[in-house]
Amino acid sequence: MGIADPSKRLEAIPPYKFQELEQQIADKRAAGIDVISLGIGDPDQPTYPHVVAAMQEAVTNPAYHQYPSNRGRDEFRAAFAEFYGRRFGVEIDPNGEVIPAIGAKECIYNLCFAFLDPGDVALASDPGYPVYTGGPILAGAEAELLPLVPELGFAPDLSAVPADVASRARLMFINYPNNPTGAIVPEGFFEQVVAFAKEHEILVVHDNAYSETTYDGYVAPSFLATPGAKEVGVEVFSLSKGYNMTGWRCAAILGNAEAIQTYWRLKTNVDSGLFEAIQMAGVSALEGPTDPLEQMNATYARRRDLVVSALGEIGVDVASPKGTIYVWAPVPEGHTSTSFCELVLEEAAVVISPGSMYGPSGEGFFRIALTAPDERIEEAVERMREHLS
Ligand SMILES: *Cc1c(COP(=O)(O)O)cnc(C)c1O
Repeated sequence: MGIADPSKRLEAIPPYKFQELEQQIADKRAAGIDVISLGIGDPDQPTYPHVVAAMQEAVTNPAYHQYPSNRGRDEFRAAFAEFYGRRFGVEIDPNGEVIPAIGAKECIYNLCFAFLDPGDVALASDPGYPVYTGGPILAGAEAELLPLVPELGFAPDLSAVPADVASRARLMFINYPNNPTGAIVPEGFFEQVVAFAKEHEILVVHDNAYSETTYDGYVAPSFLATPGAKEVGVEVFSLSKGYNMTGWRCAAILGNAEAIQTYWRLKTNVDSGLFEAIQMAGVSALEGPTDPLEQMNATYARRRDLVVSALGEIGVDVASPKGTIYVWAPVPEGHTSTSFCELVLEEAAVVISPGSMYGPSGEGFFRIALTAPDERIEEAVERMREHLS
């Protein structure tokens, strides 16, 4: 064994695929090519001014400079409870049903360590956020894929989960509005999930990264608003995408009090909480004003329309997503996900991501992120029209 050899668990997961994408972009740029990246979903606009102002004030306060508690500040928990009541009609007890997370990614990963043993299974939406599979594997457990079926509005068919898999499952990761498909939750699906989780005693983890990023008047629900959801589930609410706060690492886990207590117990062994100045900035994000969010959504909707109509012109028909910062589309005849994305990179110097990057059920699709300035999106769709028509 060499001193830098990875553990067998680490070896078992493929390298984080976004790294390959970043390398491809870097190589092209080094060769002097003007690459437009619509690959990674990271908002291009700055954090809203009232949030930055709250942070500027908070960071000067020595009261926030010490170790935070993993339970979170009273103000943070109260702001989330108030927000969930006002926004989703969900009652949250600020003393037990919500604690901070250092981003949704940390939360999802640590939930795997809090709940999974070898032999246990986590059910993971496929295509899906890579940590739904990487987390369980690193925790020494197994990830079983839940294929999202286009004909079911990109919901999985829960009746297709084999009985022996369902009986070993302890966690289930779902996410609506959905990355990467842009789908919104189909009518009745959350209710099915609650029934399935009760039957098989599975803790549902609803990854809510996009409920505030929606279009055309669609208002996304919280999973926790589903009757019985709090008995079987938690929701991870991230401020990253909706509030342009990806760099801040600010999220919360809400819902089932016992599950949150178990996650807290794990965390006290792993990290030392979310910087309290960032918690106070999070409070200001949740309290509003909401017009920066509405303006941001109007911007994404405009970019989405540009992309959808340009794709139509090159023969790729897609439905306009009602949420998220992505357009998910089938690759043209004769292509795989990878071959089409390589063609677009070579011919148009535009980076888009192959659907297969998010799991085997993403094969045959590609994803365009709407997180580049309008003029870059316009340039990108112009190049695609020119080189691919
Ligand atoms: C971006 C994203 C995350 C990451 O959220 P952080 O709070 O920044 O860690 C989690 N889940 C999904 C589905 C995402 O798209």
